[in-house]
Order: sequence, then C-alpha cells, then structure tokens
Amino acid sequence: MQKTSYQVNEKGYYGEFGGAFIPEMLYPNVEELRQNYLKILNDPDFQKEVNQLLKNYVGRPTPLYFAKRFSDKYGAKIYLKREDLCHTGAHKINNTIGQIVLAKRLGKKRIIAETGAGQHGVATATVCALMGMKCIVYMGDIDIKRQAPNVARMKMLGATVIPAHSGSKTLKDATNEAIRDWISNPINTHYIIGSVVGPHPYPDLVARFQSVISKEIKQQLLEAEGTENPDYVVACVGGGSNAAGIFYHYLDRLNVKLIAVEAAGKGIHSGKSAATSQLGKIGIIHGSKTLVMQSPDGQITEPYSISAGLDYPGIGPMHAHLFQTKRVQFLSVTDDQAMLAGIELSKMEGIIPAIETAHAIAIFKEQKFKKDDIVVVNLSGRGDKDLNTYIKYFNL
Ligand SMILES: *Cc1c(COP(=O)(O)O)cnc(C)c1O
Repeated sequence: MQKTSYQVNEKGYYGEFGGAFIPEMLYPNVEELRQNYLKILNDPDFQKEVNQLLKNYVGRPTPLYFAKRFSDKYGAKIYLKREDLCHTGAHKINNTIGQIVLAKRLGKKRIIAETGAGQHGVATATVCALMGMKCIVYMGDIDIKRQAPNVARMKMLGATVIPAHSGSKTLKDATNEAIRDWISNPINTHYIIGSVVGPHPYPDLVARFQSVISKEIKQQLLEAEGTENPDYVVACVGGGSNAAGIFYHYLDRLNVKLIAVEAAGKGIHSGKSAATSQLGKIGIIHGSKTLVMQSPDGQITEPYSISAGLDYPGIGPMHAHLFQTKRVQFLSVTDDQAMLAGIELSKMEGIIPAIETAHAIAIFKEQKFKKDDIVVVNLSGRGDKDLNTYIKYFNL
C-alpha cells in the first residue's frame, strides 16, 4: 500500500500523535505485533483468507446506494455506503475478521477485547465463534447493566463477559482490565482493539482493515459516475475506525474533501458532549498520544452522547493529525439533530440508521453543497440496536 504524509511513520506517529505509551510489562506483546503485522498483512495467503471471509461471511462488497429522495431534498448527489448491511450490522466486523485471522497466524489461541456499548464485544465474539477461539470480553459493570441485549448476544456466541468493577465501571475500566489480562497472558493471547486507537501498531492495523470501505467505493463510484473520486466523503467519529476506513484511499487525493462528524451531545460547551477535536487537549489515552477530553489537571473527563458508539473521550491519533493539519474538516452534531436525521432517513429512504451514523446524516441540514457535488456518506451501522432509544425519544 502507498504511503502518504497522512499515514503512520516507521516510529508509529501521525505528525506529533500516536506512539506506544505502555507499561514496560506490555512491551513484548505489542512489539511482537509490531514486528509481524505488515509481513502478515502483505502475505497473499493471509489476504486470500480475509477476502474470502469478507465476501462470504460478512457480505462484502457492501452496496454504494444512490439516495434519490434525500439527494433531491438536499440538492447534491448523495450516496450511502451500506456498512449497515454487513453481518452483525456495522463496519466493526471488517476489523475483527482481519484481527482474528492475524491472531491465528501469530499462533494465538485466546482472544481478549474490551467493550463499552457491547458492539465491538459482539463483533469479536462473532469471529471467535467462527474460528473456534476462546473469547473473553471485559465490560464495565455499569455498561453490562445498560447493554443487556449485547451481553446476551456475546454469551450466546460463546464468549465470557467479565465485569470491570473499578473506577467509573465503564469503558476505561474495562480497558484497564483487558491490559492487565494481556500482561498476564503474553504468549497465547491476542488483544483485539475495536477502533483506530491504542498503542502503535493498532491504529494503523485497524485503519488498514477498514480501508476496504474506500477501496470498494472507488470501484463502485467509477461505475456509477465515471470517476473514482467524490467531492466529499462524510463519516461519524467515535474512536474513528469507520471514518479512517472511508477516508483511507482518499487521504492523498486533496481535491476530495473529507468531513468528520463528532457527537456534540447536549451542546459542545454543555459539559455533556463527546466532541473531542473541539474540547480535547494533547494527552495519553489507551497507550497513544492524541487529543483527549480532560480536566485542567489532566484527568480524563467522562464523555457523553446519546449514541453509545460515539461516547469516547479521545480520537485516534490519525484523526488528531488530520484535524491539526486541517486535511479533514471536523463538525459536531447534537443528540437532537442526530435523532431528527435518523428518523428522516428512515422515512425518506427506508433505512433506519444507527444513532452514531445519524450524526453523519445530520450535516445536510447545516452544510450547503452544490447540485452536482457527489457526497458519499458512510452508513456505518443499522439502527436495530437503538430501537429503544428511538422509541423513548419520539414516543413511538
Ligand atoms: C462503534 C460504532 C461507531 C463508532 O466507532 P468508530 O471507530 O468511530 O467507527 C460508529 N458507528 C457505528 C454503527 C458503530 O457501531
């Protein structure tokens, strides 16, 4: 794959962001992965196995759908990349498929993962069932209570869900538990991280697995419009993996404008938000140097968004760099704007989006495009998991 200035360098940095800030005892695990990942990813046998699973198990390529009624209403050519049609309902499986095959090549027998809302836990439990690997998912005690259906899914898929009782009993604490487990099991265990976050090489590894999204779009858009390159590419950002995947092959095409949409929650300055690019300062989270929402004395602050998948106090180091260099324009969308966009897409196109995804859809009310502009939006996931939130919000 071609390297650009927006890609990670040999030291694991995107500009000033990235690196591997990890406890000494984790070094051998991360180093084993760092030394082997590119060799394995470039191996034709590895690629063959992953591509076959993406096709026959995940259901790729996902369609690039021209949303006609939406396009007419908002005055642009709007295409939706249908990651919601992937097996398990979102893009997350692109990464877990890649990492499980990688783990197998590394000779690992046991998989650990952390999960907040449970979506990454389900995607990990799914591929572990597929490969007959032991799966342990760490999840905050509060999240276990909030996300009962996903806990049940993981159990049905054969995973063991271990509650994290420390701290705020949410994602951050689950991550600490997973890291502790990995330190104790360095030989037989692989840690599947769920977004473009974590110590190098994880952000690059996950971005490469998600880059299939923009790879497919180039081909599909060429067929539909006679050009590989849209005018705009839009995606929501939690940790940043679906955005990294849809931006990937356009990063060095500077005439393709890239837009990332963060969750403003109840308003950027309300104290209840997850708009990291707007509120964050440079700090360390999840073993990487990036933008982090933190108090003046450097304590990571609790993020908030109505969508569990965007409720993260950092962004991946690649996105911090893309923000700082202005290669990507960062917008933010409130809970209310996202919910309205979600119901509008449902009624106009017959597609119920995940509330995370609805944030990306919401920008059409604010941003003006030209009639001939081709705008590709990543429809990162389906809304089935969010039905209860939609029901409560709209009194359905
Ligand atoms: C998890 C999730 C996200 C946010 O994660 P990224 O790593 O930022 O992509 C967005 N959309 C859906 C549907 C998700 O499940």
